[in-house]
Amino acid sequence: MECEKSYKGIAGSDGIGIGRAALITEPKISYEQSSALTAEDETKRFDAAVEALIEKTNAMAEDMRKSVGEKEAEILMGHSLMLSDPAMTDEVRGIIAQGLTSEAAAEQVFETFAAMFEATGDELTMQRAADLRDVKTGIIKTLQGIEDVDIASLPKGSVIVVSDLTPSMTAGINKDNIEGIVTEMGGRTSHSAILARALEIPAVLSVEGVTAKIKSGVRLIVDGIRGEVIEDPTAEQQAEYAEQKADYAKRKKELEKLIGEPTVTADGDRVELVCNIGKPDDCAAVIEKDGEGVGLFRTEFLYMDSKQKPDEAEQFEAYKKAAMTLKNKPVIIRTLDVGGDKDIPYLGLEKEENPFMGFRAVRYCLKNEELYRDQLRALLRASAFGNIKIMIPLVTCVEEVRGVKAVIKDLMSELDREGTAYDKDIEVGVMVETPAAAAIADLLAEEADFFSIGTNDLTGYTMCADRGNANVAYLYSAFQPAVLRSIKRIIECGNKKGIPVGMCGEAAADPRLIPLLISFGLSEYSVSPTAVLATRAEIRKWTKAEADKVAEKVMKCAAESDVLAVLDENKK
Ligand code: PEP
Ligand code: MG
Repeated sequence: MECEKSYKGIAGSDGIGIGRAALITEPKISYEQSSALTAEDETKRFDAAVEALIEKTNAMAEDMRKSVGEKEAEILMGHSLMLSDPAMTDEVRGIIAQGLTSEAAAEQVFETFAAMFEATGDELTMQRAADLRDVKTGIIKTLQGIEDVDIASLPKGSVIVVSDLTPSMTAGINKDNIEGIVTEMGGRTSHSAILARALEIPAVLSVEGVTAKIKSGVRLIVDGIRGEVIEDPTAEQQAEYAEQKADYAKRKKELEKLIGEPTVTADGDRVELVCNIGKPDDCAAVIEKDGEGVGLFRTEFLYMDSKQKPDEAEQFEAYKKAAMTLKNKPVIIRTLDVGGDKDIPYLGLEKEENPFMGFRAVRYCLKNEELYRDQLRALLRASAFGNIKIMIPLVTCVEEVRGVKAVIKDLMSELDREGTAYDKDIEVGVMVETPAAAAIADLLAEEADFFSIGTNDLTGYTMCADRGNANVAYLYSAFQPAVLRSIKRIIECGNKKGIPVGMCGEAAADPRLIPLLISFGLSEYSVSPTAVLATRAEIRKWTKAEADKVAEKVMKCAAESDVLAVLDENKK
């Protein structure tokens, strides 16, 4: 009897996989709390385990570097660094000295740190908690002599079903044998998602209780595009998904032909197609996917990745690396956007009633000038090594732009006095992502060298709808007439003043929006590296006259549903 079931999850890595479930379960680990050894011998036991694990992790990182890439290997190198971090290991030794086993001491210390990171509720910081737990399990397994699950030997056509796909597990994946990955944990920015995307294996994450529901050997379809897993599919479903899988592969091949082609409309008008990144290492993906530069470097990742705020020297190296990797291509670096959904625990931001409307981004930076000066000095110094532009987040009034420019001017005089090189003509742009900025876009255009529309925030603030709130999710749409009018107005104001206008929110990669953006006159699209080629393909389909026709109809629509219907009827 066929009994197909489906499970919803987060689309973690694009593509369709069809295969049989390989359920990976970790062995139950049990150990004594009190050590029978002397503290000295127990410490030796712990140190030997750490040393062995560092060696093993480094070897896995090396394999990963060869088989997948530098960026992915760095995740494992990060584990190695955690193991070498005396802040952690000394604490473990301290607890061993009180008579506990190495296992119990490691559990206590790593769990305390992990829980602290987890409590932030921020997806990226929470990922660090997952890494700490991965390292902790590694230490305990090494102490107990428990071997890792051998993912490398899974047969062709396997779909990995696992509670959480840890980086140490991923190191063994033979990508030719794995059709898909299904996990109970992790979001789009979790390391399991990053690794699955790097390996180009379809993945659906955060499927509740999946390891208890799916048995090894059962047939599965992994729809990494829609975030769905189908268990025991019917013959029709198998045929339908096999066709979708073939279409996906064909489209991917087709898109690859656009590498090296210009981003032009069907009339031949050139626009810029750049990328959103979070770390200098992401520049490798920008180059690989033929991005024409960086339209948004979210610098908060540099802050989130360390236990204390990165100093000027560290930031300088990071910005310089991005600028140099991309040679003379533009690299727009956004100054620190902290607060709201982006908490950085060590900055000690106070809990606020309405953090999204509170003390964040440029507001915070202008009040914490010392921290801001470090970042701006690093940016200015790095500008001597490439084509860096500075972008200010969450602007609501001209005073903020003037305030930032005054700090920059002061820093330039400081650098002149020191004889330190920087780009004297560095551009300073404004992120237009609040209704206030949209309303005064004409005035801001007088102050800014460029605009970049942040549709993620602009949509939320314009519609007064928190994107994390399922009850108001129907309002959170860039296709709402209120948001579209705002986007159109911002572009018009920028164009009137003759400054470039880009878009770096997620909407820039939505193919449905592209005819409207062409019609409004957007000059730069900033999307994730994986969306570059699909965006280029869509832009190349439209002439300005065709796009204008669609835009004219859309801008007459009163309801979002009508907007979507018009776009659907006219899609190419
Ligand atoms: C935006 O708000 O559209 C944006 C690009 O910034 P972030 O998503 O980092 O808030
Ligand atoms: Mg934003």
